[in-house]
Amino acid sequence: MFRATLPTLAAVLFFITGAFILNLQLWYSAKNESLASANRAMQSMDEILQEARAATNTAIAIAAKGCSVDNQYQLGTEAALQPHLRTILIMTNGKVWCSSLPGNRLLLNNLAALPDRELTLVPAKGNIQNRPSLVYRTPSAHGIILVTVSDSHLRDALGTSKKYLHLRLVIGQQVLGYRGDVQELKADTKNDAFVNGQSHAYRILYNLPPFFSLERIFRQGAGLLLFLLLLSSIAAWILGKYVNKTTTPADALDSAIKRGEIIPYYQPVMDGRDNSIRGVEVLARWKHPGTGFISPASFIPLAEKSGLIIPLTLSLMRQVVTHMNAISTKLPEGFHVGINFSAAHINAATFVEDCLKYQAGFMNKHLTLVLEVTEREPLHVDEQLIHNLNTLHASGFAIALDDFGTGYSGLSYLHDLNIDYIKIDQSFVARVNEDKDSTKLLDCVLELARKLSLTIVAEGVETKTQLDYLNRNNISLLQGYYFYKPVKFVELIKILLSKPKEKIERYIET
Ligand code: C2E
Ligand code: CA
Ligand code: CA
Repeated sequence: MFRATLPTLAAVLFFITGAFILNLQLWYSAKNESLASANRAMQSMDEILQEARAATNTAIAIAAKGCSVDNQYQLGTEAALQPHLRTILIMTNGKVWCSSLPGNRLLLNNLAALPDRELTLVPAKGNIQNRPSLVYRTPSAHGIILVTVSDSHLRDALGTSKKYLHLRLVIGQQVLGYRGDVQELKADTKNDAFVNGQSHAYRILYNLPPFFSLERIFRQGAGLLLFLLLLSSIAAWILGKYVNKTTTPADALDSAIKRGEIIPYYQPVMDGRDNSIRGVEVLARWKHPGTGFISPASFIPLAEKSGLIIPLTLSLMRQVVTHMNAISTKLPEGFHVGINFSAAHINAATFVEDCLKYQAGFMNKHLTLVLEVTEREPLHVDEQLIHNLNTLHASGFAIALDDFGTGYSGLSYLHDLNIDYIKIDQSFVARVNEDKDSTKLLDCVLELARKLSLTIVAEGVETKTQLDYLNRNNISLLQGYYFYKPVKFVELIKILLSKPKEKIERYIET
């Protein structure tokens, strides 16, 4: 499981780390761009205030000379020539003494309310044309000089092409943004930063960009993001190849069991007397996605060695229950369902419980569930094993001794175990041919089985000669390619349904 998800996890981690670094980089540049924009706004403000300073100097000179028509004209010319200024006023004793506007008019509503400081932001309602303005105030020996700057020039200075960035001009406790009127300054939030005016008492306030912004990543880093995605996919692919290479056969089998790649095939067990089907033996197949079907001869020994035989058999048992339940009403009473068990499973503490659970799963309670126990491996017949098998026998299971004649363990335990069938190993049947002497070995094995009063199943019947020999010897239960090879469940259904009519009536209840 971990091996399967490791490349994906690594790729996701790689992508997230890359996206994080990209975001960090974009955040830094957005921060720097915001600061640069604030500095540019400050420079523009300083230029505007330099104009106000120059106009103030002209006004001071005029104040010393008097507010003649010529001098007032000069004041008006100065206001007109300085691109950002609106009006220039000279005040004495709280009244307008001389103005750049004809007739000494003024555009401010309440001069007396102006505070005693160099810069003041006047809200819209303080101006005759109902638009905010900035007043630059300088006391001089001949009166107070007031220079006003229109809001449109201030807003131009605060303008920026960046959607997320909002620059504001702060003077004292008042603030003017790119849009709207002069406002009371609210407490700075931690998302705000500012630059101070270099030569005058104002600040340019700006908001810091958010640390993480999907919109920013997609807008500015879409190409890099795609490249990262490509790199991550390549990394996952390479890692996947490497991980699969380093996967042990046992790991691969473990994953296969979990993915449901170990499936049951069914080989019919025949009645040689009338060619009818008496049951099936379940044989494991590995449906490998890469290499196709793998024979149990190559993975059952591995499963036994690695301890995977128990989960493997349990998985098969579950599938067999599902399959047999799907055709449960079609199976005749006593239909055999044989399944192979390895010694490692039989000796396990959970064996009896596993088998009882398996038995309980069948809807058709009249099946003969056969437990095939191989004689090929030493069985370690001890009291526990005898107890387990006899308990299951008493619970209705039939016990078959598989591969009879090949065992090393001797036959003494046959007395202690309730064996129902013995399955003569196919190697004995395979020797039988036209040659008279070819049956000698099988004769001995059959003789032994008969003496032990055991019901015999012959495996590996491939030829008519072998069938005739077995028929002559009254061996009625037969299995082999002569009849059927092991088949998939769907094939088994077809076989069961395609039997001649009289056989169907006998074995498939309708
Ligand atoms: P087995 O239990 O003796 O099963 C019979 C084997 O003989 C099967 O091989 C079957 O395909 C093959 N066979 C049947 N008829 C003929 C025939 O006419 N000629 C020849 N040459 N072979 C025939 P398969 O399916 O390859 O299984 C091999 C062995 O793997 C089985 O021998 C059994 O010992 C083991 N096995 C298979 N499935 C399982 C399982 O689910 N659990 C355990 N523990 N062992 C299994
Ligand atoms: Ca078997
Ligand atoms: Ca066998």
